[in-house]
Amino acid sequence: MSELNLILIGPPGAGKGTQADRLQDDFRIPFISTGDMLRQNVKDGTELGKRAKQYMDAGGLVPDEVIVAMVADRLHRPDAEDGFILDGFPRTVAQAQALDQQMKAAGRHITAALLVDVPDEEIIKRISGRRVCVKSGHTYHVEFDPPKNDSVCDEDGSRLVQRDDDKPEVVRNRLEVYSEKTAPLIDYYDDQGLMRRVDGTRSPAEVHDHIRAMIATLRMEDDV
Ligand code: AMP
Repeated sequence: MSELNLILIGPPGAGKGTQADRLQDDFRIPFISTGDMLRQNVKDGTELGKRAKQYMDAGGLVPDEVIVAMVADRLHRPDAEDGFILDGFPRTVAQAQALDQQMKAAGRHITAALLVDVPDEEIIKRISGRRVCVKSGHTYHVEFDPPKNDSVCDEDGSRLVQRDDDKPEVVRNRLEVYSEKTAPLIDYYDDQGLMRRVDGTRSPAEVHDHIRAMIATLRMEDDV
């Protein structure tokens, strides 16, 4: 079976993490989220985390060279040999070019970039209600996916909090950064014939089904 090297693109709150989580179970390839990796570094107080925190708190982007090195390191691990699902990377054209170079050097290529498309108004509604378990990172939504007991995680009873960068003023900045820096990637991958789109306003199960069907088609095309 050929490798499955997927990139998920979409505004913050589009449901990329939820889909990536399901896809890693379907295809047994690692889900690599640069946002999660950075948050872990901040939590652990590493040099990388200290450097990244100021940008993250403001809803801006961490400098390309920091991120590119971090992802290169991660993609070299054995568990990513048969494929990977990247969430939150690349986020700029410069990052996409760096990834292309790394892939080429390793004799690999990107299978597809999936755009999970959701309009801004819907994003703001989704993100403002998002709550995260302080311990496991498990995500809830006060309206759409509430925990059984208010403000505590169903899995381990830990406290649920709102991420600093999910606060409304920061979300607005993240959306601006997305349309300015990340949306150009749609053309970048379109030009390479790698772009596939899904309607992210559908239910998570429908989006998942759509993505799976798309991957099945990609694999058939790859085998031709
Ligand atoms: P996320 O969880 O993907 O929304 O990422 C949270 C924050 O981490 C972003 O708002 C950025 O500050 C930072 N970040 C994550 N991935 C990247 C990336 N590929 N390039 C630059 N900054 C990133």
